[in-house]
Amino acid sequence: MKILILNEALEQRHHAHVERRCAVSSQTIAKLVKKGIEVYVEKGAGLLSHYKDEDFAEAGASIVADITEIAKQVDILACVNTPKESIVEKLPAGTVVIGHLDPFFNEALVTKLAKANLTALSVEMIPRTSRAQKMDALSSQASLAGYAMVMKAADTLPSILPMMMTPSGTIKPAKVFIIGAGVAGLQAIATAKRLGANVLAYDTRPVVAEQVESLGGKFLNVDIGETGQTKDGYAKELSDEQKALLAQAQKEAIASSDIVITTAQLFGRKPPVLISKETLASMKPGSVVVDMAAVSGGNVEGSKPGETAVLNNVTIIGDGFWSEGVPRAATDMYANNIYNLLDEFVKNEPIEFELTFEDDILDAAVITHGGLIRNDMLLSAYEGAK
Ligand code: NAD
Repeated sequence: MKILILNEALEQRHHAHVERRCAVSSQTIAKLVKKGIEVYVEKGAGLLSHYKDEDFAEAGASIVADITEIAKQVDILACVNTPKESIVEKLPAGTVVIGHLDPFFNEALVTKLAKANLTALSVEMIPRTSRAQKMDALSSQASLAGYAMVMKAADTLPSILPMMMTPSGTIKPAKVFIIGAGVAGLQAIATAKRLGANVLAYDTRPVVAEQVESLGGKFLNVDIGETGQTKDGYAKELSDEQKALLAQAQKEAIASSDIVITTAQLFGRKPPVLISKETLASMKPGSVVVDMAAVSGGNVEGSKPGETAVLNNVTIIGDGFWSEGVPRAATDMYANNIYNLLDEFVKNEPIEFELTFEDDILDAAVITHGGLIRNDMLLSAYEGAK
């Protein structure tokens, strides 16, 4: 069995973003080889996460400069993002293609993967169950993103996060407001607390309040009526009336914060816009807003992915490429997720990817197989977009 790993830095992504992560680490290459899998890595794939080709070769991988030929023979292609179309065209029918395929927003690619008879496994669709936790790339990456958001904000703030009492005076702790307390938001809360800030957080899912408080944050209680969550634990979209009530209630908290970090997402849909230009204008001079949802549409009006803007003395950081700051940790965690997935589903004698849709993880995450798109949620989203 052969697995191919792409050098995704070679491909320029949207907004001139260069992918620094890689789908394997030296550690996971050694484990894959031990399992009997031949690992082929495109030259330079680990460089931007600080793994040299020699490190990967020493762990047991074959380094390939031109992947044209090997792409025609692989059983598995593992990526961080989506594979480029020129590679997809070369893969043999039945190849398992794994990555952040962003399927709700990539209908053309998903259709192409189906037509090419490839078995596409989208890591975003892995269910949030206990058994799947070790493969859950959304969680591993969101945790790091939450940390990275706080570090960015702290670096930009013209003050410090902790309280400092010195003979030269006292600096009060910074006030940090985190909107959206899912995996990323909770990690942001923990990080800001560790740095000594006063942390306030809000999420439309009331079940989160207890988790926020257990991390030492305060939960902003806003009564906007029924909110709840989907059966998979994701937030439901709010009504216009609820959105207006919420924006009004948060305005005061935002105006008195030094740092606001937004991490609110809606699974399979564009994130909600939560902070208007008018609210931004009410913030204190020098304060910082980091919009973690900027790449997928933005929680903050006017924020742009990968761009920093200053508006009335307030810095607005439109993020999304958070992994640029922590590529080694992000690679190590993602590579572990991919290894754990393969360890679960690649069986020996004969060595093969055991595809059974009776398995809840595969049933949810495999979105194309046998020439068809096989996920109802996706099909109805595509239909709805027409
Ligand atoms: P996400 O990235 O989809 O969204 C981030 C957060 O934004 C969520 O907490 C969501 O409720 C919140 N949000 C959405 N709209 C909002 C608004 N208008 N205002 C404020 N907040 C808003 O979420 P996620 O981090 O991927 O987590 C999704 C769910 O999956 C959670 O219930 C989480 O606990 C669960 N989860 C379970 C497991 C597991 O059991 N193995 C692992 C990871 C996550």
